[in-house]
This record gives sequence, C-alpha cells and structure tokens, in this order.
Amino acid sequence: MTRADLLVIGGGPAGAAAAIRAAHAGVHVIVFEKGPHGRDKVCGDGLTPRAVAALEDLKVDLDPAHRIDGLRMIAGRQRRELSWATPGRFPDHGAVWPRNRFDAHLVDAAVAAGADVRFEVEALPVIEDGRVTGVVAGGETFTAPLTILAAGAQGAAAKALGAVRDPDEPFGLAIRAYAETPRHADRHLEACLSLRDEHGTAVPGYGWMFPAGDGTVNIGVGALSTMKGFKKLNLNTLIDQYAAQVHDEWQLGPFLDKPKAWRLPMSSVRRHGPGWLAVGDAAGFINPMNGEGIDYGLESGTLAVDRFLVHPTTAPATYDQLVGERFDAFLRTGRRFSFLIGHPYLLRTGLRVAVGTQTAAEITLAVMGNLIDNETPGVAGRVLRVADAVLALADPVLRRTRATG
Ligand SMILES: Cc1cc2nc3c(=O)[nH]c(=O)nc-3n(C[C@H](O)[C@H](O)[C@H](O)COP(=O)(O)OP(=O)(O)OC[C@H]3O[C@@H](n4cnc5c(N)ncnc54)[C@H](O)[C@@H]3O)c2cc1C
Repeated sequence: MTRADLLVIGGGPAGAAAAIRAAHAGVHVIVFEKGPHGRDKVCGDGLTPRAVAALEDLKVDLDPAHRIDGLRMIAGRQRRELSWATPGRFPDHGAVWPRNRFDAHLVDAAVAAGADVRFEVEALPVIEDGRVTGVVAGGETFTAPLTILAAGAQGAAAKALGAVRDPDEPFGLAIRAYAETPRHADRHLEACLSLRDEHGTAVPGYGWMFPAGDGTVNIGVGALSTMKGFKKLNLNTLIDQYAAQVHDEWQLGPFLDKPKAWRLPMSSVRRHGPGWLAVGDAAGFINPMNGEGIDYGLESGTLAVDRFLVHPTTAPATYDQLVGERFDAFLRTGRRFSFLIGHPYLLRTGLRVAVGTQTAAEITLAVMGNLIDNETPGVAGRVLRVADAVLALADPVLRRTRATG
C-alpha cells in the first residue's frame, strides 16, 4: 500500500491544474492517467480570456499557444467581428492550443513542480464505510486523505461515486476534425450560430473554425440535447455540411483524420462526499452557452487544492460551497438558456437580437464567455441580471414545452 497526501484520477486540464497547484505547495500528489503521455482529447481547443487567466494563475507558460484576439460571430447573413470584451477582469486575449500538446504541456508542468504522474494506469476509488480512502490502480492500492475525481465526462470512476449526470438537465454532443488552411494563423475564432440539420431544423449549438497557428484549423459542430430530433441528429452529416459551407472562404483541405465526437456533461447529481470531490467535466462544469469546459476544469481543480491546503477533511464540503458560489448560478442560467434555444422560433428570434447590432453582439460574447457577472457595472451586467430573472420565470414553461424526439 502506498500513502500520499493527495490522489488525482485523470490527467486532463482539471487534474493537471490540481496537480500543479498541489505540487507548488509541496504536497505529495499522485496523478493517474489512463491514456499515454500526449493523449488526445476530442475538443475545439479554444481557450477564452478566462481560461488564459486561470493558466496565468497556475504560472503556466503560454508561449506555445496560438494567441486569439476575438471572435467572428456569424448568423445567417449577419457577420460581426468582435474583440474580447473583458472589462478589466481578464486578459484581452484567448488562445487555441491543440489538446494533445496542451494537455502534455500541463502534465509536464505538474511533473516539473514535483507531482508524480503515472500514465496508462486506470484508477478506481476505494470506498470503505461510505468514505473514499484512496484508489486501486495497476493492481496496487494507494491511500490519501483526499481523492480528486478529474476523470472527464462521467465514466466508471464517477459511477462508483454516484457522480452522474442529472437526467432532467441538458447535455451537449460535439464533433471535430482538423484540416489544413492558409488561414491557420488568423487571430479570430469563428462561430456560426445558424446551423441547420439535413432536414432544415435549426440546431441549438454552433459550428466553429478555431485556427491553431500550426498550418491547421480545428473545425467542429456541437448541439444541445434540448433540440427536437436530438437523438437522431447525425453529427457526421452536420460537420460535412458545415465544412462544405466554409470550404471556399477558408480554402479548406480535406479532414486530416476521421471526425471524432464526444459528450459535454452539463450537470452532476453529486460532486463531493467523504474523502473525495469532483472537478471539471466530472462535476458537470461545462458552460451550456458556449460548450467551454477547460476554464472550469482549471478553476475547479485549483480551488479544490486551495481548500485541501486549508484542511483535507473539510475540503469536500467547503469546496462544494465555494465552487457553487462561483459557478452554480451562471451554469443554471446557461442550462435554462439551452431549454430556451431548444425552441426553434425562440432560437431564431434570439439570434436576430444577439447579433442584430455590434453592441448586442459584444454583450452576447461577454455573457456567453462568462466574462462578466451579476456585479459587472454597465449594460452587459444589466443584461445578465435581466436574463437571469426572465429565464428563472420562464424556466418551468420552457422545460414543459421542451421539444422531444
Ligand atoms: C467536441 C468538443 C469540443 C470542445 N471544445 C471546447 C473548447 O473549444 N474549449 C473549451 O474550453 N472546452 C471545450 N470542450 C470541453 C472540454 O473538452 C472539456 O470541458 C475539458 O476537456 C474538461 O477537462 P477535464 O480535465 O475535466 O476532463 P478531460 O479533458 O476529459 O480529462 C479527463 C482525463 O481523465 C482520464 N481518465 C478517465 N477515467 C480515468 C480513470 N478511471 N483512471 C485514470 N484516468 C482516467 C482520461 O483519459 C482523460 O485524460 C469541448 C468538448 C467537446 C466534446
């Protein structure tokens, strides 16, 4: 039996952030990652200014990332080019960083800080009398006062802990591929908000072109489970249609690999218990308004360790409270929003308003990117407060009338 101060299941951004923070503080932390070093993760690879701030807080060197200055928002014939509207709280830029390199960079930073990272080892929690006492990994038992579940979209380790998706809440599905383009060094992300499936049904979600600065662009499409016909939605057809739509403007080469799809969890019925807590996707921390999860993984992983450093035994409960204060209200508004745009008429009307003017589009970008909060002064903060209140009122109706099929 091996003893450690802290165990982490999963070496994605959330687990690596926890390991970096812990190792910087001199904690004996062991990370178990079932994939190899440099494993890929299906993702858009986009980092918002909020994620850049979280990386800077962890003292991660951002030089290898491709810098992004803003977003081009497209809805029908409307097209708006926006700079990141970050009223002082966050840096004025984001980034694109392909996940095989980004995640390797993060775990390397954790190792450099002193973390023990073990690759190609699956870990499962050991539960004794309702308390997580450690993990079993590679036939060996490890014990620690706290185990962090950072295993991504819920799998076997999460199931063992009851950290599963709330069946009444929405989730997302998205697919991505890489392709060569002469525009690989563009400094704007591009998002097409007016997607339609092959039957012409409006899809609540978006198609993206995220230039990676390495000769390629990450191209993808994502949809929310609140849309009618979601179960029959063919993501491969959707990405092919989208690629055809952007082909000429981007002089897009063929896909370099077969498009790959994955889930975006947006809820969890449990995210802590005696001896354990969940961070990142394992806790359902994905922003339903834009599919962003890297930042929430980095922030929750860091916050979890900050609570652990105060006291390992009380960390699960205090973490749950603090992370709730930071994220729950916003993510709840996001989930309500996803029921709203699951109604095609409301989606079309909303899009007209959201990108109708440059100012409206700037506010949309700030709200969707979680770059403002209820306390933010000015129009954007007011819009968020009103949206919160209206969505709270409309939520029961929107859920009841949700499209099925
Ligand atoms: C198509 C798509 C596009 C996306 N685009 C973006 C985007 O552009 N920007 C953004 O911010 N977010 C995006 N997201 C969301 C983002 O990918 C996730 O939110 C993010 O990866 C969460 O990080 P994580 O560390 O919680 O989980 P993950 O990155 O999934 O890492 C979890 C790790 O745990 C490992 N693991 C799992 N179980 C075990 C086990 N039992 N033992 C050991 N290891 C285990 C896995 O191998 C994995 O490496 C996208 C998601 C999808 C599906």
